[in-house]
Amino acid sequence: MSDRYDLIVIGSGPAGISAAINGVIRNKKVKVFGSRNLSEKVQKAPRVDNYLGFHGITGNELKDVFSQHLEKMQVEITEEKVDAVYALGKYFAITTKDNSYEATSVIVASGVSNKKSLEGENEYLGKGVGYCATCDAPIYKNKKVAIVGYDVHAEEEANFMLDVASEVVYIPLYGQPEKIKDGVNVVLGRPLRIEGNEKAERLVLHNDHIDADGIFILKDSVELDQLVPGVQIEDNHFVVNRKMETNIEGLYAAGDCTGKPYQYLKAAGEGQVAALNAVSFIDNMQ
Ligand SMILES: Cc1cc2nc3c(=O)[nH]c(=O)nc-3n(C[C@H](O)[C@H](O)[C@H](O)COP(=O)(O)OP(=O)(O)OC[C@H]3O[C@@H](n4cnc5c(N)ncnc54)[C@H](O)[C@@H]3O)c2cc1C
Repeated sequence: MSDRYDLIVIGSGPAGISAAINGVIRNKKVKVFGSRNLSEKVQKAPRVDNYLGFHGITGNELKDVFSQHLEKMQVEITEEKVDAVYALGKYFAITTKDNSYEATSVIVASGVSNKKSLEGENEYLGKGVGYCATCDAPIYKNKKVAIVGYDVHAEEEANFMLDVASEVVYIPLYGQPEKIKDGVNVVLGRPLRIEGNEKAERLVLHNDHIDADGIFILKDSVELDQLVPGVQIEDNHFVVNRKMETNIEGLYAAGDCTGKPYQYLKAAGEGQVAALNAVSFIDNMQ
């Protein structure tokens, strides 16, 4: 059995790190998943005028202030993308590509993705379309696979797939790939839709099409209902109450992933509310 955390936080934006800091202050064993750079949406803000106490700060400066705060409180970020959270009654199992973790309570603070689904993506999900190439690799042994990579991390999955599939076509959506292996067929183009019949059969690009047995769409985020099976979602956001509780006991959500307005202070405030309620939940479980 793996070591069980009191609290696992998914996401390192303002919501996630505010949740983590409040969990640590309450002496809980906390783990945070996300990125060392915290959040692209923090880093890329040209100028922020509505973060209390930091008038005129740039996103990058705000990121540095957040990082220093985390360092002072010895909160580390684990750079693994969480693929799924399973509610198993008395605890949660949290899986990443290579590892599995356990926690008494979970806060999802994964933000919102601006990357819209492709036409046909939802229709064929599980029928030739997937979000985790390494998880589904055995299904595509000696078959042809197309992989759409939204960021550089997808390259690792394409390289791995090369060992299994008969042919791997990789479509990077962020410019030239950096570490793709020889043997992977790189096609530059903009995907438009996925076509098929009973199963997905073809990825249509604006200037081309690729026939494939499996099509993987590797975004930096996971669709919320894929991330937490059984969770209640409305308009692509988690449904939460004022305690930031979801419909799953012990599972909380905070930040942009719970709905508009999409703002730093709303996210940080929700992270705090979620953490303090998670702490009460954890204490009651002991
Ligand atoms: C250019 C720009 C300027 C902005 N300016 C302002 C402004 O001036 N004022 C303001 O209030 N707001 C502003 N915003 C909005 C603000 O950025 C968001 O409201 C805020 O970042 C939301 O915080 P969050 O923690 O909910 O999510 P995010 O900041 O989006 O963080 C989510 C984090 O979770 C990680 N994550 C997601 N899924 C997983 C997973 N499965 N496993 C592990 N990690 C995962 C992501 O990589 C990311 O690091 C701006 C946004 C942009 C894009």
